[in-house]
Amino acid sequence: MTNYRLIPRQATAAQTDALRRIDLACQELRPIEDRYYLDRRINSEVPAFFAKHGVLGFMIPQEYGGLGIDVPLYAWGMERIGREGTGPRTFFSCHISIGSSVVVYWGNAEQKQRYLPDAATGKRIFGFGLTEPDAGSNPAAMQSRFEKTSAGYVLNGQKKWIGNAAEGGTLVTFARNPQTDKISAFLIDTNTPGYQADIIQHKLGMPTAGTCEVTYTNCEVPRANLLGEEGQGMKIAYSALMGGRLGVAAGSIGIIADCLHESLTYARSREQFGKPIGRHQLVQRHLGRMAVKLESTRAMVTAAALRKTEYDADRTNQQLRTETDLLIAQTKYFAVNAAQEAAHDAIQIFGGNGFLLTNRPARHYADSRACQIYEGTNEILEQKIAIGYLGQEFEAFSG
Ligand SMILES: Cc1cc2nc3c(=O)[nH]c(=O)nc-3n(C[C@H](O)[C@H](O)[C@H](O)COP(=O)(O)OP(=O)(O)OC[C@H]3O[C@@H](n4cnc5c(N)ncnc54)[C@H](O)[C@@H]3O)c2cc1C
Repeated sequence: MTNYRLIPRQATAAQTDALRRIDLACQELRPIEDRYYLDRRINSEVPAFFAKHGVLGFMIPQEYGGLGIDVPLYAWGMERIGREGTGPRTFFSCHISIGSSVVVYWGNAEQKQRYLPDAATGKRIFGFGLTEPDAGSNPAAMQSRFEKTSAGYVLNGQKKWIGNAAEGGTLVTFARNPQTDKISAFLIDTNTPGYQADIIQHKLGMPTAGTCEVTYTNCEVPRANLLGEEGQGMKIAYSALMGGRLGVAAGSIGIIADCLHESLTYARSREQFGKPIGRHQLVQRHLGRMAVKLESTRAMVTAAALRKTEYDADRTNQQLRTETDLLIAQTKYFAVNAAQEAAHDAIQIFGGNGFLLTNRPARHYADSRACQIYEGTNEILEQKIAIGYLGQEFEAFSG
């Protein structure tokens, strides 16, 4: 395919090695993921593929056994995985962007030592449990609650739509103290008595990624598992969503790239009216639009990744935080919609064959729909972006 470079020219030797590992894992994964997708089964082999190639600690510092990858390289990696499908990319996002990275940014020394080496090898898979049945766009309205005990905390409540919750590992999760009304963040291990994860059935897309409803019934969480300080829960959640949204946006580049690749191949070989459909100008229009989406999304993701790198080096700078948060929100919004449109156009190029899940555009179309909902719906992001320009006094919600 033209204009698709897996390894950017400016990549260093270490970056090239990390991307090659991701690429190898993706190549090996593809036929297996295809099979699980068509059987509509959760692909439980995904963690092992990435573990085998040593990339589950992508962003974890080297001192904890990870690759210590920087933000732009992380985005390139997510782009590559996004080409394989939103299911595997969502697994990766939950484990890294909104899972283990939260421990990297917010964990204390003991928590990092206890959790990160296992996350890097895949012995422990991470997820992020924020959303509840009645608190999605407005997570600050969560009902999950905790009580303090002499040993730590007891959590009760319910979370919904949680990725990697049944994988056997740890969730970064959130609950309210009914006495102070403040929300705190916790690390809850999935083997904690009273923790229950039930797979949500009948999803529109992403059948290969497990998504769960999680119940906490008198779950005892040791004091050592409080993340940050009591009451910092929403600050931690919103900071995690910055990395998460960037990952979703980067994965969207992969969706567009794969749709363009599949469409070019099809447009060259499929003939109608005595010539390849790629010679029909309206088909060319679809291809041209897709190619522009690919490059414009990649440019936005690169700019956002560089801005986040600046912010990560100066995390007390509130102005920089606001700018980074806004740019990432714009990037995620643009990218997920570009990906959905690219999948839509790719299906059109495939005609009737585009309607088949055996062809990749149909899967990207179904799967990328989730990206317009999770980590900030289109509507929430539109308002967040507008407020970023209008000023906080216009804020209709916080998030
Ligand atoms: C496949 C999948 C995976 C997910 N994975 C995770 C995960 O791993 N962890 C996790 O914590 N969550 C996860 N989520 C949850 C996701 O983040 C929420 O679904 C999302 O934030 C929306 O919340 P909701 O579903 O409750 O919709 P609601 O908040 O009920 O929204 C319904 C509609 O109302 C609109 N709306 C709501 N408030 C406003 C407003 N103020 N202004 C304008 N419009 C508004 C929304 O945009 C939406 O269109 C996942 C969701 C899906 C579908």
